[in-house]
Amino acid sequence: CQAVLEHDKAQRDPLTQLPNRAALVQSLRQSMAHAAQQSQSMAILLLDIDHFKSVNDTYGHLVGDDVIQNIAYTLVRQLRSTDVVARYGGEEFVVVLPHATAREAFHIAESLCQAVRQSPLALPSGKLLHITISIGVYAGAPVHGSSWERLVGIADEAMYRAKNNGRDRVFMSTPVQTMRSHAAPIEG
Ligand code: GH3
Ligand code: MG
Ligand code: MG
Repeated sequence: CQAVLEHDKAQRDPLTQLPNRAALVQSLRQSMAHAAQQSQSMAILLLDIDHFKSVNDTYGHLVGDDVIQNIAYTLVRQLRSTDVVARYGGEEFVVVLPHATAREAFHIAESLCQAVRQSPLALPSGKLLHITISIGVYAGAPVHGSSWERLVGIADEAMYRAKNNGRDRVFMSTPVQTMRSHAAPIEG
């Protein structure tokens, strides 16, 4: 019915048809509450397109929009139906992996980087436009009452470190080698 359609529209980003930021926040809150209750690990990935400004400057904003759509499609194709991928902001996406350990999250993030690297956009001229992304990963068992902003903030810091370490790569908020089989709680 119309009300359901309107509600669905309000939850989706018009360019990519992905869940928008409001819908993402709902999913994050649910996953965090569940993980806290079960003392289980979960992961949040923050993805940011590399050197996107120069794509817009060189090819124009409409090609930039096509790049965002192409990446959205690549991410959806790569992930499982229980994972959440949302458009967080302009050229940033967030992926929520509800039960993932740090190790699993690292491998999934690596596969997303690789999939985007291997999925260039075909321009009308026939030229292939190669794009890369940088990913910051938070993984852990959130304590009750943790805010989603804090956990996304941790992923954001990791993402900036991925940028500073050369882009087209994954950076973990917690080193994977030192993780135990279940993640230590993060305060906050
Ligand atoms: P970095 O590798 O450090 O992330 O560099 P960057 O150029 O991607 O980062 P910066 O934050 O300087 O630029 C992001 C650009 O993304 C600026 C803005 O114009 C563009 N952008 C944001 N949202 C959209 C959108 O919806 N469509 C298009 N075409 N461009 C967008
Ligand atoms: Mg950005
Ligand atoms: Mg960027």
